[in-house]
Amino acid sequence: MKKNDIQLFDDLDIDQVELKGFARSIAEIEWLLLLIVLLYYMSPDAQIASPAGLLICMELFGAFILGFHYVNFNLPHFKWKLAVETWVMILFITLAVWNTGNVDSPLLNLYLLVIISSSITLGKAITIAEIVLISAVYVLLASRSGVEYSLVEYTEFLIFFLPFMLVAYITTMLAADVNYGKKVFKVLSETDEMTGLLNKRSFSPMLHKATEVAIQYSQPLSAMMIDADNLKKVNDTYGHKAGDKLILTIASTIQDCLRTSDIICRYGGDEFVALLPQLPSDRAIETAERLRSAVENTSFDVDGQRISTTVSIGIATYPDDVLIAEELLEKADETLYESKKAGRNTVISYGKIKAESPDKDIIEQQEFGLRSSDLS
Ligand code: GH3
Ligand code: MG
Repeated sequence: MKKNDIQLFDDLDIDQVELKGFARSIAEIEWLLLLIVLLYYMSPDAQIASPAGLLICMELFGAFILGFHYVNFNLPHFKWKLAVETWVMILFITLAVWNTGNVDSPLLNLYLLVIISSSITLGKAITIAEIVLISAVYVLLASRSGVEYSLVEYTEFLIFFLPFMLVAYITTMLAADVNYGKKVFKVLSETDEMTGLLNKRSFSPMLHKATEVAIQYSQPLSAMMIDADNLKKVNDTYGHKAGDKLILTIASTIQDCLRTSDIICRYGGDEFVALLPQLPSDRAIETAERLRSAVENTSFDVDGQRISTTVSIGIATYPDDVLIAEELLEKADETLYESKKAGRNTVISYGKIKAESPDKDIIEQQEFGLRSSDLS
């Protein structure tokens, strides 16, 4: 996959991509259905009660496919839309079967297409409901043909439905397996293997969402950039295994010190980022200080050696010290750099840096003013 494709995939809603694919497949099945009925309609041996009626049904069904799939092309896709389509397919097949010999119609097996579409895209419950609906329609068509339900007729009815049940069972099972595989893949692709925290890829949409909420409801949002101090030295002195353990220790200390509602991500090697929704600057600084001290007081054992470490933390808070919420991470990163420069094992907030160099504040306010006026 090319880098651009990955970026594109990151920006998309995965569920929408999947539903769009399903909608495309269902449209293809609908066209196929229409084509089969049309071919039967044109065949010289066709037994059709009302050719004009069948033609109107085909035209209406064709118009439905066009309207549903191509008029509102860019509207979001929903599962209920797919369900509506399968119901319309059942209606169309029933009208076609009604017109071509009821239960003796050669088009009766077309119901299989609905079962396949439904089991792959809509799951077990709706597929079972549709099988029940098709069975009811079958009984209705049979009674229209004058079938009286004796034991023999009842057995024939069951034999007719057996392949439907089998197809539904096999396709729903396959679809469930594929869905399970997709869920596992999603969790793996969003999680950092070593720490179990979110990875950078899954963090981006969460940052976007948290930023949107903070702006919309005028709530504070703090971001913390946390980096292990001197990990290279630990790697060089005690080996990579010790370095790994150090990363794991920091990850679990961060989890212990923050709220479950906070969003924590392993951003890269020994760098972590935490988003603290609804936390103003002063409380974010307190939390970071608690975290810094907890890491400092934690040690672990590698091959009989006691190892301890420290972290440097940079904090930025919207709107307390960063006026443009989208710049939160960038400012927290800048602050982390200051914290390293200040000698490590330190917490610094962007507000403090701004207070020490007021020029930064003026530049930011000018930038913000410029962006606000750009918008108006
Ligand atoms: P600083 O205090 O300036 O942060 O120095 P540092 O030694 O921690 O170095 P820096 O943060 O710039 O780089 C992190 C190093 O951590 C680089 C790499 O060798 C190491 N590292 C990155 N990922 C892993 C990992 O998964 N396991 C181990 N053991 N080491 C890692
Ligand atoms: Mg480091």
